[in-house]
Amino acid sequence: MFPFDFYSPIEPLDFPIFREKGLTLHIKRDDLIHPFISGNKWRKLKYILEDAANQRRTHLVTFGGAWSNHLLATACAGAKFGFKTTAFVRGESVSNANLSLCALFGMELRFVDRAAYRDKHALFNQAFGGEPTAYFVDEGGYSAEASKGCGEIVSELSQRYDHIFCAAGTGTTLAGIADALATKTLNTRAHGVSVLSGGNFLYGQVADLCSQGGIDLCTLHTDYHFGGYAKTKPELNVFISYFCQKTGILIEPVYTGKLCYAVFDLARAGYFADGDKILLIHTGGLVGILGMEKSLHA
Ligand SMILES: *Cc1c(COP(=O)(O)O)cnc(C)c1O
Repeated sequence: MFPFDFYSPIEPLDFPIFREKGLTLHIKRDDLIHPFISGNKWRKLKYILEDAANQRRTHLVTFGGAWSNHLLATACAGAKFGFKTTAFVRGESVSNANLSLCALFGMELRFVDRAAYRDKHALFNQAFGGEPTAYFVDEGGYSAEASKGCGEIVSELSQRYDHIFCAAGTGTTLAGIADALATKTLNTRAHGVSVLSGGNFLYGQVADLCSQGGIDLCTLHTDYHFGGYAKTKPELNVFISYFCQKTGILIEPVYTGKLCYAVFDLARAGYFADGDKILLIHTGGLVGILGMEKSLHA
């Protein structure tokens, strides 16, 4: 229903700490899917849009922080496929590059304080409860539809991997990958690197989205949050510069920097078995770097 041809090649990465241990490392370039409906955000929106269209809803109402990649993806996808879009933005009114792009794609922005933001259904019902065309899209797209879309990553793989790693914010991408793996006999583990502190809560979120037993294939790595969501440290920034300079592939501190740091650190610590094949999912989100670029000037 939402035709959208995209390109997400798998590329090899050559780094000594992997080569020396006989490990192979690849990266799936979901960051190339679209500049604004980037990475996992297109995969997450695909079946959400389909469900909305099936219910004849034409107005997507969603939620996120001022730098949310999900807001930008929803704004752009709404423009592309003919949906009106409204976002409740957490916190006081601000302007930044991400929100300017959202507005440019026609999204209406409503700032709400943190207390009110917590009850998303109340916000939706108050403002749009009487509007039959309005469709609730949870923060980050968290939903069964979204995890189904993310599972399609697995059907695009042409070889087997021992480990597939992604960054985990809501855990939707991880759940989709794990559930898709659970329907095959590939003996692949799905790993999520929590980008938030206290990431153990993600097990419950992921389990709730796994209907095929994928939760049993999941490992969460909860020690690579660098102080919490959207927080960074010099050590992470130095690693990101190193990675970008060695590959020509951009990663950023909120999601994919923490993902890559974790996999390199695990390799260094001898976590993998000789000969293991590892796949990183580059979930995109590069507009977010515009809010943090100062911390990256080495
Ligand atoms: C939103 C986002 C994630 C988080 O994905 P979840 O499915 O919510 O865990 C990861 N990486 C990037 C770049 C994102 O924008």
